[in-house]
Amino acid sequence: MHQYTRQVCDGVFDMVTQAQILQWLKIFESEIEQNKEYLTNLDAAIGDADHGINMSRGFKKVMSQLPTVTHQDIGSILKTVSMTLISSVGGASGPLYGTLFLKASSVAAGKQELTTQELLELLQAGLDGVLQRGKAQLEDKTMVDVLSPAVVAFRQAIEEGKDSLAAMQQAVAISEQALENTKPMLAKKGRASYLGERSIGHQDPGATSSYLMLRSLLKSIKDSE
Ligand code: ADP
Ligand code: MG
Repeated sequence: MHQYTRQVCDGVFDMVTQAQILQWLKIFESEIEQNKEYLTNLDAAIGDADHGINMSRGFKKVMSQLPTVTHQDIGSILKTVSMTLISSVGGASGPLYGTLFLKASSVAAGKQELTTQELLELLQAGLDGVLQRGKAQLEDKTMVDVLSPAVVAFRQAIEEGKDSLAAMQQAVAISEQALENTKPMLAKKGRASYLGERSIGHQDPGATSSYLMLRSLLKSIKDSE
C-alpha cells in the first residue's frame, strides 16, 4: 500500500536503493572469496595466476572502507570503491575495475537511489570507463566480452518496459552465455595475448569476475524485493 501510494504520488516505484548498492558490494566480495581459487586457476592457464588474489586483496580493502561511507550517497560509496581498488590492486584488473567504479560513481553522484534508467546509465558508464582505459574491443577476450552484452541486454529489457530486477535477470542470463563465449576467443589484450593461439580454449578470468559482479548486483536487487 505504501509503495502504491509512492508510485501514484512520485512516479517512482522501481528504485535501487543505497542499501542495495552496499549489499551488492558485500555480496560481490563474498563471491570473490568463494571463487578466489577458481579465478586464480583461470588466470594460471592464460596469465600469471593472480586474478583471484588481486580481486580478493582489493575487495577485502573495500570492505574495510565501507563502514566509513555507510551513510553517504551512492556516488560517494562507489568513488570510495574506485579509489580503494586503484590504490590496492596492481595488475590490469585494479585500474580497470577502479575506472569502472569511478565512472559509475559520477552517474550516481548525490543519489540515494537509482531508477532503472539511472542503473542502466551507471552500468553503461562503467563499461565505457573500461573501454577507454583498456582499449579492448569485443572478442579481445577480456571483461568487456561480458560487460558489453550485459549492458546491451539491460538496455533492451528497459525498452521492453521491464523493471530493474527483470532487466538485471536478462542481463545476467546473457552474460552467463557471454562468459562461456570467451573460451574459443583468441586473447588480444593483457597478459593472455602473449600466448597467442594458446589462449584459445580457456575462459577469461576478468570476464569471470565481471560475471560474478553482475550476478551479485542481481542478487542484491532480488533479495530485497
Ligand atoms: P594481470 O593481467 O595484470 O595479471 P589480472 O590477472 O588481475 O591482471 O586481470 C586479468 C584480466 O584483466 C583479464 O582476464 C582480462 O579480462 C582483463 N584485462 C586485461 N587487459 C585488459 C584490457 N586492456 N581491457 C579490458 N580488460 C583487460
Ligand atoms: Mg593476472
